[in-house]
Amino acid sequence: MGLSLYDTMSREKRVFEPADPKRVTMYVCGPTVYNHAHIGNFRAAVVFDLLYRVLRHQFGADHVVYARNFTDIDDKIIKASNETGQAISEITKKYADIYKQETAAFGVLAPTLEPRATGHIGEMISLVERLVADGFAYEAEGHVLFAVDRYKDYGKLSNVNRDEMLAGARVEVAPYKESPADFVLWKPSKAEEPGWESPWGRGRPGWHLECSAMIEKTLGETIDIHGGGQDLRFPHHENEIAQSACAHHGAPLARFWVHNGFLKMGSDKMSKSLGNVVLPRDLLKKWWGEDLRFALLSAHYRQPLEWTEELLEQSKRQLDRFYRVLAEAPDVPAAKPPQSIILALDDDLNTPEAIAGLHELRDIAAQMEGEAKVRAIASLKAAGNLMGFFEQDPEVRLKRIITSRTNTGSVNVVQGGDTVVATGVLEVVPGLTEANIDALIAERAAARKAKNFARADEIRDDLAARGVIIEDGPQGATWRRG
Ligand code: AMP
Ligand code: ZN
Repeated sequence: MGLSLYDTMSREKRVFEPADPKRVTMYVCGPTVYNHAHIGNFRAAVVFDLLYRVLRHQFGADHVVYARNFTDIDDKIIKASNETGQAISEITKKYADIYKQETAAFGVLAPTLEPRATGHIGEMISLVERLVADGFAYEAEGHVLFAVDRYKDYGKLSNVNRDEMLAGARVEVAPYKESPADFVLWKPSKAEEPGWESPWGRGRPGWHLECSAMIEKTLGETIDIHGGGQDLRFPHHENEIAQSACAHHGAPLARFWVHNGFLKMGSDKMSKSLGNVVLPRDLLKKWWGEDLRFALLSAHYRQPLEWTEELLEQSKRQLDRFYRVLAEAPDVPAAKPPQSIILALDDDLNTPEAIAGLHELRDIAAQMEGEAKVRAIASLKAAGNLMGFFEQDPEVRLKRIITSRTNTGSVNVVQGGDTVVATGVLEVVPGLTEANIDALIAERAAARKAKNFARADEIRDDLAARGVIIEDGPQGATWRRG
């Protein structure tokens, strides 16, 4: 039957059928690049990466176009530039690069397209011109505003009513607005602020406009899937819908609207304003990116997820158990993903069920012998790969063969004799290199052979105290870091 997705607009789970299976289009609102993203911001990156992988699997890797933008012009960026004295372009390049590196460490594939708002100012102006010409927008004191009353379906996605819309500080009240709910498409820039020439004077785009223009340019008038965090439903997505539908003679902006739930600290949303944020860059000093990805996918994407140390420890422990089985046939290529995993993911990305399925596959593989074991491991690997897991070398992961650190949140590890950069940074016990451990294990084997069990046990206990676990097997002792 294929993938079903919960569509926020129709409020039901529906079978996903793209307009053109040869060109499936997805757009996700990306970060505003003026500082470090927090792990809550990364939930969307990881969830929509999973959806991207599932779509590529169903429709073919060449038939999915995924665009995720960078908002690189925004009042928060201007403020950061004023505060730090750094040029806007320097700030946005720096944080966009960091975002790409850090999401890659989480196993997030690069989207097909990564449009930047400042690269699409012409398209934004053209969109506003059409809205003004058709009477959906009006100019007032150098601003261009969208007249919400002229779009009859306004509010359908989030179901906000007029009173809620106007309550609180979420809608900016300004004297030049015809109605307080009207929102800014274009605003004037002061001499010292960044700006572009336009029919309404020198100015800059409003945030909502940026996404509508980039979607139109990169993907088309109606896309298959539009995604983002659930807080973006109103006003951001309502405004994108209004702008795009009115510029496109009523054509809907997206056929499916997909929203992920919040990451929480205790009972609060993780957010900069509450000051309870945890940064991927700090987490990557202690955990593999894959542990963090596993943690983010451990709950269903529409449910809230509480971020705790316990969740991270559990995620690491579970992945280590998978890798201990994968290490038994490290070079076997992934087979086809088994149906159980595909069915779970096809059910609105049911990751808890998919992860339970991975555990079952692991138990089967662990019990098998010989060729059957190799086949079971190939199947387990394929199942994990579909979700963006098990892409590390089991040896590297379990032994943490780290040679040096880079200052960008990655480590150099030795793999097959070559030094490669791995994702994730882990603390290693100083002075306890792979060679040291191998030497101690050889010494222990010699001590056992000589029946010097006291020394053999001493070595084992000493290594255990330093986080190295020895496992005696039929082929001798192997080790991993705990
Ligand atoms: P903000 O940093 O609040 O401007 O949010 C930027 C993006 O991250 C938006 O798309 C939000 O939906 C998302 N976001 C912010 N905080 C969280 C959170 N705690 N959990 C999930 N998504 C979040
Ligand atoms: Zn957007």
